[in-house]
Amino acid sequence: MPKVKHRHSKTRGRKRRTHYKAVAEGLSKCTQCGKMRKSHSICPYCGYYGKRQIVRIETAEERKARKEKKRKK
Ligand SMILES: [Zn+2]
Repeated sequence: MPKVKHRHSKTRGRKRRTHYKAVAEGLSKCTQCGKMRKSHSICPYCGYYGKRQIVRIETAEERKARKEKKRKK
């Protein structure tokens, strides 16, 4: 079994780790609303994927109305 001969210094380890970076996810402009969204996924702002609407995104007012309705029951 291989065994580590010497422990590296803090500096050495840290220097190596300077190359570990978070890679930004592929972002592209939404064709429908123009906002930046993750590519190959439904736009979280308008619910469109390509030219079709896949999910309905409710507006703040709709959400409020829905919550009001729920409370009355
Ligand atoms: Zn969009």
